Amino acid sequence: MGWLRKILRVGRVVERAGNAPAPTVKPPAGVRGSLQVRHVDAGSCNGCEVEIAGAFGPVYDAEQYGARLVASPRHADALLVTGVVTRNMADPLRNTVAATPKPRVIIACGDCALNRTMFGDAYGVVGAVGDVVPVDVEIPGCPPTPTEIVAALRSVTGK
Ligand code: SF4
Repeated sequence: MGWLRKILRVGRVVERAGNAPAPTVKPPAGVRGSLQVRHVDAGSCNGCEVEIAGAFGPVYDAEQYGARLVASPRHADALLVTGVVTRNMADPLRNTVAATPKPRVIIACGDCALNRTMFGDAYGVVGAVGDVVPVDVEIPGCPPTPTEIVAALRSVTGK
């Protein structure tokens, strides 16, 4: 039981959080400090997903700032959308936004989501996320780092 005593003595060790970034949007009523996020891959190469996994993993720990991934848009306050919007994902993205209760925040994550990057003229691409649904928060980068993703989420949660 030595290890148990040690765990109780040490407690939970995390790096001290810096000051919360300036808010980028007015958070929807009731979500300050507790933002439920549904991730939508609209046509990503999965590079952004790797970084999102890092952002919600134990090192960057987005949950300590009040952001949490959920499995359904009906449970979500925010959508975290990655990738260019492909033809097959345009309507599912619109439907996912429609299924997310208002007030909601749409976060476009990665350069593809913001401006299509090198996929701009591809035949299967409808556009950037902002061409298909309204975007409230932008996270630039290819891919954005977990630190940048966490900073953007904190700018919404206010923590
Ligand atoms: S922004 Fe970069 S990492 Fe993210 S989906 Fe586009 S190409 Fe991939």
